[in-house]
Amino acid sequence: MNIRVLTLFPEMFQGPLNMSIIKRAQEKKMLDIQYIDIREFTDNKHKKVDDYPYGGGAGMVMTAQPIIDCYQHVANQLQEGDKPRVIYCSPKGRVFDQKLAQELSKEKHLIFICGHYEGIDQRAIDEVVTDEVSIGDYVLTGGELPAAVMIDAVARLIPGVLGQAESYQEESFYCGLLEYPHYTRPSNFRGLEVPSVLLSGNHKDIDRWRREKSLEITLKRRPDLLEKATLSDEDKQILKYLKK
Ligand code: SAM
Repeated sequence: MNIRVLTLFPEMFQGPLNMSIIKRAQEKKMLDIQYIDIREFTDNKHKKVDDYPYGGGAGMVMTAQPIIDCYQHVANQLQEGDKPRVIYCSPKGRVFDQKLAQELSKEKHLIFICGHYEGIDQRAIDEVVTDEVSIGDYVLTGGELPAAVMIDAVARLIPGVLGQAESYQEESFYCGLLEYPHYTRPSNFRGLEVPSVLLSGNHKDIDRWRREKSLEITLKRRPDLLEKATLSDEDKQILKYLKK
C-alpha cells in the first residue's frame, strides 16, 4: 500500500509511524509512507499557506492553491487508472471505525490531507477529497494526529503486517464485540489468580469462556455494539442470562 500524507508538519509523524510494527511493515516494503510538505507548493513568495476567512470570524484558513497543487504532484506519480482514496481529516467527517479501517486496508493508494488552523478552503475539499473523516467528536489543532491514528489502524490490517502471534481476528470490534480479558505469566501474581479455565488446556472451554467474557464486557460497556453484532443462538442465551 502507498500512503501519501499532505501536511504542513511532516516531522510530526516521525515518532508514531516509525516504530514497532508499522516501522517493520515499511522495512519489509509492505507499506510505503511518504510525507509531503504542502508549504513547498505555495505560489506565495513569503511561503504563506493560509489567509483570513471571507465573511470574517476568528482564525486563519489554509488556502486552496498549495493543497491542490500538492495533491496534483502526488496524483501525477500514480499510474493511469489508479484511483486513490483522498481522505481529509476533519471533525465534520464520517467517524472513523474498524469497518472503515478494514475498507481502507484493501486500497492500493491512500492520500491523507491534514488541515490546520480553522481548516482548509472548501474548494480544495470539493476538488480533490473523496472522504472526509473524523477520529471522534472533539477538535484537535491539526489533522496530523488523526492521520497517524488512521494510518496505524489501517496498516496493521494489511495482510502480512501483523505476524500470526499478533492476529487481529479476535480483537475488539473485528467481530462486532469488545475483546475478552488477557492474562499472562505468572499464574499467581501476588495472590491474584488467573481464571482457572485458562490453565485447563481445554480449548473448547477456553473459547466458551472468552466468548462469554466478550459478550459480558460488550453488554456492560458498549451495548450499542450488540445491536449490529452477528450473534449465535448460544450468544443470545448467554446475553439473556447476563441481563438477568
Ligand atoms: N474549524 C474546524 C471545525 O470547527 O470543524 C476545526 C479545525 S481544527 C482546529 C484544524 C484541523 O484539525 C482540521 O482541519 C482537521 O484537519 C484537524 N482535526 C481536528 N479535529 C479533528 C478530528 N476530530 N478528526 C479529524 N481531524 C481533525
